[in-house]
Amino acid sequence: MRIANVGGRLSLIDADGRAVDVERASGGAFGSDPQAVYGDWARFREWAATATLPEGEAFEVDALGAPAPAPRQVIAVGLNYSDHAKEAGLGVPEGLPPLFTKFASSITGPVTQVRLPEGGNTDWEVELVVVIGKEARDVSEDRAWEYVAGLTAGQDISERITQLAGQAPQFSLGKSFPGFTPTGPWLVTPDEFADPDDVELSCAVNGEEMQKSRTSNLIFPVPTLIAKLSAIIPLLPGDILFTGTPAGVGLGRDPQLFLADGDVLVSRIEGIGELRQTFTA
Ligand code: ZN
Repeated sequence: MRIANVGGRLSLIDADGRAVDVERASGGAFGSDPQAVYGDWARFREWAATATLPEGEAFEVDALGAPAPAPRQVIAVGLNYSDHAKEAGLGVPEGLPPLFTKFASSITGPVTQVRLPEGGNTDWEVELVVVIGKEARDVSEDRAWEYVAGLTAGQDISERITQLAGQAPQFSLGKSFPGFTPTGPWLVTPDEFADPDDVELSCAVNGEEMQKSRTSNLIFPVPTLIAKLSAIIPLLPGDILFTGTPAGVGLGRDPQLFLADGDVLVSRIEGIGELRQTFTA
């Protein structure tokens, strides 16, 4: 099942790629708020599995908002691919990976224009994003996928000068400029993947591929992240988890490369779809 935020309204995406408005199709049993559905996820899945849906309507991709536009918690993982830890000049983390947030005001839908912070070094990080569908506390790895509503694509856009300033670096701030957290184009439930722990992710700037890997290369895979995080903080329905980025970011290149006025960044995740960001000075 795929669900989307079409013009701010919760929608199912049918087999033809058209949108079915959930509030109307359910006769009001479910509201239109794309974020609220995660608080009622089990009942929604049950309804969606058996409902007779009306014909969907075509929509423009730039009408899409974030599939989880207002999470209570945004958790992001650093150094979760060994090739990226290496290009960052850092060791592979043990125990827990470094964690930070991307402040929720930076969340957008999948197709956007992003203003480059003046004097900054703005960089890309394609990431698989997990959306939580059931409150998770002390969850074991083998049950972790039961707590996942679905997966979406994300860009952890990062302004490196702000991010790395100071003795205790400002990861959260440097990664939360307006528009720095595009997600989408929709949420895909885990059952849609042959193996949700092994999907390809990649991104390209102006058509040139910069990153390409598979989530089977994650040092801490999704179930491990959910187990380790939920041992410390509850993961709440609708929370989003950025799972880390593979090698190929601009900071790790020689010479370094950062986004410039007019650049187009396209990020793709197998079985989900793509994000498209155009940058302006
Ligand atoms: Zn990241």
